[in-house]
Amino acid sequence: MVSDHDRRLGRLEQRSPVTTIVCPECGEKFTAKGDLAVRLIVAEWERASGVEPSSDLLAILDHEHDLSGAVPDPIPHRNIEDWNRLDG
Ligand SMILES: [Zn+2]
Repeated sequence: MVSDHDRRLGRLEQRSPVTTIVCPECGEKFTAKGDLAVRLIVAEWERASGVEPSSDLLAILDHEHDLSGAVPDPIPHRNIEDWNRLDG
């Protein structure tokens, strides 16, 4: 049986998915909440406007390599399970 706490936690996680990207140059991983591609565009605009971007994006913005071509990693586990179910 799932407790109320677990249900709330599940809803919270769905609302704030975490995206991990891997630098294509050095393999360093970065994690941030939400839609990372959109948030990075906003953060770059904020910085250009003299506004401090969200703290969880600073490491990505300040990284020595260009992360615009970085891909999410790993592919969400749930999707792999769904894929296997379809396959089998
Ligand atoms: Zn790098």
